[in-house]
Amino acid sequence: MSDIILQLENIKKSFGETDVLKGLNISISRGEFITLLGPSGCGKTTTLRIISGLETCDSGSVILEGEDVTFTQPNDRNVNTVFQNYALFPHMTVSANVGYSLKLKKMKKAEIDKVVEEALEIVQLPGYGKRMPSELSGGQRQRVAIARAIVNRPKVLLLDEPLGALDLQLRRQMQIELKRLQKQLGITFIYITHDQEEALNMSDRIAVMKDGLFEQIGTPSDIYDRPKTSYVASFVGSANIIKGKAAYVGGELFMNYDGSLLPVNEQSARIPEGSEITAAVRSEYILIEDDSQNGIHCTVKEKTFSAGMLRISVETSLGQEIIISRHGIDSHINTGDSIVIGWEKERVVLVDLEDSYEK
Ligand code: ATP
Repeated sequence: MSDIILQLENIKKSFGETDVLKGLNISISRGEFITLLGPSGCGKTTTLRIISGLETCDSGSVILEGEDVTFTQPNDRNVNTVFQNYALFPHMTVSANVGYSLKLKKMKKAEIDKVVEEALEIVQLPGYGKRMPSELSGGQRQRVAIARAIVNRPKVLLLDEPLGALDLQLRRQMQIELKRLQKQLGITFIYITHDQEEALNMSDRIAVMKDGLFEQIGTPSDIYDRPKTSYVASFVGSANIIKGKAAYVGGELFMNYDGSLLPVNEQSARIPEGSEITAAVRSEYILIEDDSQNGIHCTVKEKTFSAGMLRISVETSLGQEIIISRHGIDSHINTGDSIVIGWEKERVVLVDLEDSYEK
């Protein structure tokens, strides 16, 4: 059997005049935990609805286990969805909610009871079957919604911001539980979140979305440490995006920024001397240099301290804002100071490289 469980091929969708999905392509492996990460309105929920069959695409194909299900009814796809708002039936007990789809399938009562109790054990709510949804906390309700979604063992579980309604502490606890559950059941999870930390913590791969397209698909480490575009670098981990000109000294590539040469680490691309290059450098990797020879000259504009992190906003000689962050308080730098900043070449990633530069 193929390792690929789900493929989206050139999926396009418009609502009225608005092109919401502009040609999505992705292959998802059996048992994978993949997260769609992107800002509000970029098309995440529409993508899940097309996978589940609640929405049809205008063109393109949805292939589930090698079969084209683009026009198949939701009930005929081995896919379930967990929504942010739980969507439990309020007038039914927990057991009746969890066993609802089994009852529709005319499974015998004794068997339903057994499967429901097993599902409640998996989500760590054994013995809660007789309660009503109103007698549960938010976290417990979401566990019931998950039990209901896994009771008929779908091949793929779609989770649309399932932890969005929970407070931070419960959210963290449920993140760990969901990951455990996914490993235990071996079900493919396609997960939506706005929260980059959640995506980085939980996923095998992340698909970063922008305006109805996947901007980059990769492991959390690919996305965080090797972003391919300035959009991914600034959306995930808020990197500084700095533009300069390619310059070569002794065969090594540097960035010329307002006459200063800063090191960059790029061996896989052949970049013409003098062409514009864009570097992404995370705020914690910006160094404050003693040597003013080859760094970027800046003025300190603002210094704030929050949650154990010092955040220094500086303006470069070309008027660009750069953020520097540090653990703890540094009393040596003050608003109005002139400083010189730089970075180690291992800490910088070139983004938005043209394909023609590839070696
Ligand atoms: P959020 O994170 O806010 O949930 P999202 O990335 O999931 O956003 P979608 O819900 O997929 O985004 O919506 C994408 C775009 O499509 C939005 O501009 C939305 O207004 C529009 N849209 C979604 N459903 C419909 C619909 N049924 N009719 C018209 N426009 C729609």
